[in-house]
Amino acid sequence: MPRLITIPALIDPHVHFRTPGGEHKEDWVSGTRAALSGGVSMVFDMPNTNPATTSLELVLEKKRLITESLKNSNQSIRYGIYLGATNTNVREINIAKPEIIGVKLFMGASTGNLQMTDENAQAEFFQECARLDLPLAIHAEDEATLQKAKADFVGVPTVSDHGKLRPREAAIIALERAIQFAEKYKTKVYSLHTSTKEEVELIRSAKKLGITIFAEVTPHHIFLNETDLEYLGNLGKMNPPLRTTVDQASLWDGIHDGAIDTIGTDHAPHTHAEKSAPYTEAPSGVPGVETYLALLLNAHTNGKISLNEITKLTRINIQKIFNLTDNNDTVTVDLDLIRTIKNQDIISKCQWSPFADQTLTGWPIKTNLE
Ligand SMILES: [Zn+2]
Repeated sequence: MPRLITIPALIDPHVHFRTPGGEHKEDWVSGTRAALSGGVSMVFDMPNTNPATTSLELVLEKKRLITESLKNSNQSIRYGIYLGATNTNVREINIAKPEIIGVKLFMGASTGNLQMTDENAQAEFFQECARLDLPLAIHAEDEATLQKAKADFVGVPTVSDHGKLRPREAAIIALERAIQFAEKYKTKVYSLHTSTKEEVELIRSAKKLGITIFAEVTPHHIFLNETDLEYLGNLGKMNPPLRTTVDQASLWDGIHDGAIDTIGTDHAPHTHAEKSAPYTEAPSGVPGVETYLALLLNAHTNGKISLNEITKLTRINIQKIFNLTDNNDTVTVDLDLIRTIKNQDIISKCQWSPFADQTLTGWPIKTNLE
């Protein structure tokens, strides 16, 4: 018997829908279908596209492409666009402010070429976002630490070395610096994809001091860990890397005690062919938007999270952090539906999931936009 209930539709504050420049991986037609099938009625799109979204003009061009895609496919979804930080565009934030949800700053190199490694340049962004009262979303991995790990590595790395090449210290050092800046400039910092125990502790302590830092975790960091790399191979390659079971437990503690504020999928699809390259050439990132709610409902079935917590972390807290007004978007879910994730059922253009073959209890049935 289906056990249907209606809950607030989810916001995914962290997606890469790949437009413009990466439409062979995802576009707004497939991305929107995937999001709606997963219980999501709003997404925030990241700026590391090609070209990167680094000016008002490029934000408006991306919006034009999105509007056109949605119109042609007769779909609708709410969305926000991040402006990407570069060494030269800090003045652009003020100009682009009415059109953006926040600013994204890569403190170390990941996918694309938006990394900003100079500390003084980083500081300017914390200052300007504070002045304009805009959230600053950070990818906290320190570039110097990543470079050192790479230089120190001996031999030919495989995917099981991903955590050695992007060590936890890189995330911790970058986050420490971000917290210092947040304290100094009173910036509202949104730390993306928290992956380590130490980061959870840093965030918890910073919050106690009244520092305005908010933290996200991804489904892959709470439902997978480094031991899963054995069967995932490059499909488990993402930045920051999968960590230990101790880290995983600490992320769950953070979810329950408020150190962690949100869940965002970091939906970052790449094709199977791209992921089939040798480890060093395979791109980092996994899809996640359409399995986001099902994984959480399954965790709810297993007693790991309450429905109220799900709504808080996937909707209410995100609305608060990003100053959004509420709406009546809902998702109908069947708490008793048992289904296995199959790659061939994946709607995202990449057609695979790092959670393939997992059988979950509790699935979204229909997303209802207001
Ligand atoms: Zn991302």
